[in-house]
Parts: sequence; C-alpha cells; structure tokens
Amino acid sequence: MQVCIIGTGYVGLVTGTCLAELGHDVVCVDSDKSKIDRLLAGEMPIYEPGLKELVRSNIQGKRLRFSPEVAEGAKLRATFYFIAVGTPSNGADGGADLSYVYSAAEDAARAIKLLGNPFSIFVTKSTVPVGTSREIARIVGRHLPDDTFAVASNPEFMREGCAIEDFLAPDRIVVGSNSERARALLEELYRPLTRQGRPLVVTTTVETAEIIKYASNTFLATKITFINELARLCERIGADVEELALGMGLDKRIGDKFLNAGPGFGGSCFPKDIAALIKTAKDFHSPVEIVETVSRVNSRHQQMMLEKVREAFGGTLESKKVAVLGLAFKARTDDVRDSPALALVSALRKDGARIFAYDPEASENARKILGDDSIEYSNSVADAVRECDGAVIVTEWDEFRRASWANLAATMSNPLLVDLRNMFTLQDAQSWGISYVSLGRDPILKRTV
Ligand code: NAD
Repeated sequence: MQVCIIGTGYVGLVTGTCLAELGHDVVCVDSDKSKIDRLLAGEMPIYEPGLKELVRSNIQGKRLRFSPEVAEGAKLRATFYFIAVGTPSNGADGGADLSYVYSAAEDAARAIKLLGNPFSIFVTKSTVPVGTSREIARIVGRHLPDDTFAVASNPEFMREGCAIEDFLAPDRIVVGSNSERARALLEELYRPLTRQGRPLVVTTTVETAEIIKYASNTFLATKITFINELARLCERIGADVEELALGMGLDKRIGDKFLNAGPGFGGSCFPKDIAALIKTAKDFHSPVEIVETVSRVNSRHQQMMLEKVREAFGGTLESKKVAVLGLAFKARTDDVRDSPALALVSALRKDGARIFAYDPEASENARKILGDDSIEYSNSVADAVRECDGAVIVTEWDEFRRASWANLAATMSNPLLVDLRNMFTLQDAQSWGISYVSLGRDPILKRTV
C-alpha cells in the first residue's frame, strides 16, 4: 500500500521505516529540509537503536524515500497520509499547539487536490486532543470532496530507545475512525503484524482513540509518580523501595513495569500530554484531579532531587565539581526534551557547581539547550568523574551499570555516587568503598564530604 508520512521525527521516521519494512511503499516528508538532506545523505537525524540499518535496507529495497515536499505523497497516489508532526504545549494554558498538525493536513489536501487521488485517509499519529481529527476533516473538506477522503486516529505508543521493537511487536494497535472504509484499510495496512491474531486491533471512534493515548500516558506517569512518592516515604520509615516495588509488582493486577523510583518523569511526551489532558478536562468541565496532582507531585519531586543532591554533597554545591551522568530523558535515546537531567544541571549550576557532564548519545542536543557555561562535556564516564567531588546518575544508561565503580571511585576527589535511578544493589555499592546515596533506601556513607 502507498503511504505518505508527514513529519519525519522520532515517530514519523520510525513509523515510515517500519511500514516500509512490512512491505509498503513509503515516502517520509518533513518541512525541515536540513533533516531530509541528512537522510538523503545517509545520515540519521536522531539516535534510535537499530534504525540506521533498517532505514538503509529499506532505501536499498526501494520501499522508502524522503522528500521535503508533501506533493511526493500525492505523486505516489498515497492512500494514507500519516500526520506525525510535533504537538508541543502551547505555552499559554497547557493545551497542545496544533498548528503543525493543521498545516500538515492543509498542505496534503492542497497537494491531493492538485494531483488527484480517488481516496485518501488522513491519519493522526501525533498525540492530539479530542476534537482534532474532526477539525482536520473540516480543513481537508475545504479542498476535497467528502467522498474522496476520511480521517482516522491511530495513536502511537512506541517508547524511544526501543521504538522499532515496539512498532513491529506492539501490545495493541488502536484505530479510531468514523469511516468503515478507513478502518478496513488501516487494518489491511497493519495485517502483516496482526496475521497471527496478536496484537489486537482496537477499533473505535476517533474521539475514543484520541483519549486512549492521553489516558495511557497519564496512567503511566501516575505509576511513576506513585513509586517516587513511596520512595521518599521509605527513606523516612527505613524501608527499601526496591523490595517494595518487587513485592507490589508481582501482583498481576499491579504489574512490575513503571515501578522504578527515579528523578521524576520528563521527556517529550508525558509533561505536555498531562498538561493537555488537564486542559481538555477543564474545557469539558470534568476535571481530572488525580492527573493534576500527579503533575504537581512530579514537579515537587524534581525539586526534592536537587535538595537530595545538595545534601549528599554536604549541604552546599558552591565550587563543587559534580559529574552528571546522563542528559537524555531516558536511556537509549538522544532526546533531551523536558529531560529531568537538564533541569537538574541548571539548578546545580545556579548553586555554584561546576558540571562535568557525560551522556553516550545526548551531549550534542543538551549543549544546544544548556550551552557551555560552567559545563564541560566529557567523552566518557571516567573523564567526567575524575577528580570530582561526587557523581550523580540521572539517566539509566547500561554503560553506567557496566562501569567499574571501584576503580572510578579511586580517581574521584571524593568517592560519592548519587544514584537517582537506583541502578545498583546496596551490596554492590558497599563493596566499592564509595558513599552511595540512592532513592528510597538507606544511604551508604563512607566519609563526610
Ligand atoms: P519530532 O519533533 O521529533 O518530529 C516532528 C517533525 O515534524 C519534525 O521533524 C518537524 O520538522 C516536522 N514538521 C512539523 N510541521 C511539519 C509540516 N507541516 N510538514 C512536514 N513536517 C513537519 O516529534 P516526535 O517526537 O516524533 O513526536 C511527534 C508526535 O508523536 C507528537 O504529537 C508526540 O506527542 C507523538 N508521540 C511521540 C512519541 C515519542 O516517543 N517521541 C511517542 C508517541 C507519540
């Protein structure tokens, strides 16, 4: 089947590449010409494990191409126009900025009008508030006759860092459309994945599909916030949050995922999606108070992480050399949008610390936001921690797990590791001869700073 992807970012590039891998004929379009130029030159604009190889093999197989012009989709006579552009917070009332979505729909409709197509489906892959697909139908309807197009919502649940695996082996595929024809065609598009009866395709209305995505993300954020709050309580009552999570997670009704205490959720999706759901709920006079609380508690938790680091460094960060390990909002990505690590670095800097930051993939993106003032970007864990007054793990990269902490400790001015991801057991940390401060567990204090 012929597919046009509009917006070739994390979601669009993975979606387009994976649909090509399933045998479809795909053109990925982006209004950022430099991004398309890089792709045409064989370079990856983002880091996502396995993506480079998959892009290359599908280009060679002539199933995948790139263009700055949406007209390429119309030339291909694409049945599907997947809208995968950004939907950031509008910065005013927490609502989603839908201008990119609407202009993508408008551009595609104009191109189809010019070049003709018997039937086109405008599919939102972007996370969009309830009502957006209907507005898209209105916009497209200004250009195309009603019987030549349909709209559908097909929200994306992939996780950065394992996006290909998630796309090719999803838990579920949600297809929302009020058009039978569009639903049937989308089911056909995904047939290579669903042939064995799994994953299940949840077919529903556009409104329900749109809200499923927000409900899923806010539920996951709630789970994270819950365990973070419990971690802080564990510290007060002398309990161990890792054992608590194990004891809870083995209950199948609860499940063990997203019960990892950490520095608070961030990233390109959760904060903005939560804000957008709160806004939608207010608009419809049906407030989501649990979600509002989650947002507030998460902000407070991030604040408390700074206090935790400050305390671990002896109450002040003035002139301290602090190694910050991890800048991406999570491991296996170079994405730093709303990363808790960036917020922490900014706060540490304000407190007078000198930062030695290391991330295996995200340093370049972080530098664009943080600049170079009071920060050195190191090339390895060893470089970052050498002669520092302590290290703080913010992102759970495997590389940090594999590091030889006993050896690294010997190179530090003060062997202190603040682990905001609980990457290690207390037994391991004990054996390294290091002060080790983690979340929801007793600290190991070797000597005072
Ligand atoms: P992104 O910023 O990486 O990519 C968006 C791309 O769209 C950019 O390359 C931008 O240049 C392009 N674009 C903007 N307007 C355009 C237009 N009119 N025509 C063509 N291209 C245009 O964003 P992303 O992380 O891929 O997210 C896209 C959407 O998917 C968002 O709504 C997000 O919430 C949702 N989502 C993201 C993830 C994730 O893990 N990143 C997961 C699920 C859903």
